[in-house]
Amino acid sequence: MSTQHPGTMSTKTIGRQTIRGAVLYGPRDIRFEERDAPTIVQPTDAIVRVSAACVCGSDLWPYRGISPVAGPSPMGHEYCGVVEEVGRAVKSIRAGQFVIGSFFASDNTCPNCQAGYQSSCQHRELVGGAQAPVLRVPLADGTLVATPGVPSDDLVPSLLTLSDVMGTGWFAAHAANVKPGKTVAVVGDGAVGLLGVLAAKQLGAERIIAMSRHEARQRLAREFGATDIVTERGDEGVARIKELTRGIGADSVLECVGTQESMMQAVRSTRPGGSVGYVGVPHGVELNGEELFFSHIHLHGGPAPVRRFLPELIDLVWNGKINPGKVFDLTLPLDQVAEGYRAMDERRAIKTLLRP
Ligand SMILES: [Zn+2]
Repeated sequence: MSTQHPGTMSTKTIGRQTIRGAVLYGPRDIRFEERDAPTIVQPTDAIVRVSAACVCGSDLWPYRGISPVAGPSPMGHEYCGVVEEVGRAVKSIRAGQFVIGSFFASDNTCPNCQAGYQSSCQHRELVGGAQAPVLRVPLADGTLVATPGVPSDDLVPSLLTLSDVMGTGWFAAHAANVKPGKTVAVVGDGAVGLLGVLAAKQLGAERIIAMSRHEARQRLAREFGATDIVTERGDEGVARIKELTRGIGADSVLECVGTQESMMQAVRSTRPGGSVGYVGVPHGVELNGEELFFSHIHLHGGPAPVRRFLPELIDLVWNGKINPGKVFDLTLPLDQVAEGYRAMDERRAIKTLLRP
């Protein structure tokens, strides 16, 4: 899959280091390619040696050509690893620490960060190019959270999920106001939906209805805490949720897809006074004001402020309370990243873990 240029065979040239990482060129054209190694650009940056990275469901939008690609784009925004170097203005993060950060770098000090919405940080920057052995993370002090020590290898997949997918499922559950004893429905059986089930369980939900028609995913949903499985979709799916909730609807619904159908399924499955937490990046979703008005539901979502949840989630993983790393059902060496995308695109894999 990679392009070899004669004359750049060496991985080191004088004064300039290169690495090999995933680059998307266009629809279904992902290459494992040589590019300049990231370096400290701003004094607030850190350089992280990536221990594990992965392919996100949202990477599939540009991969499938649904979101346009402006040109060759280094891919990957989920990461954890060991700090190699920090800029001169970085105070709390040090070389040698094992760290996790979000896909949005944030200063963690501005009013939006202080309110717990670090993914709306006034100085936010997208972190990109994590499907590579080395990564530059801006605003290191605000973005990165160090684990209590360097983790054993078996903890790494679960820690990696905290960078996005678990943090996003967790936010979906918070946004949907999941509380002990409540009934929760989860729309979407991708990795975020499955971890939304885990989050709902951890937050004390009594009944968790997972909407899925894939056997392997249903099994994992049950393992994470789902009590019921609904295989129907659209209006039939809504009718089934109503049937299971005495005609009322669920207290909390997690929307983890981002299509018109999934959003309407979530809105219409929620009881009056209930809440939808939506974390699937909307693609062409339009809501009808009048329907929303009469539905009496709360609607909250957006890009997950993963940074808010990192300390708590690191603690839960570190102490063996949750094992979100189970969503990875395919592990590949980084140089086989193209197969990692294909397997997820064809729904042969729930989520691909990449080892540099
Ligand atoms: Zn901020």
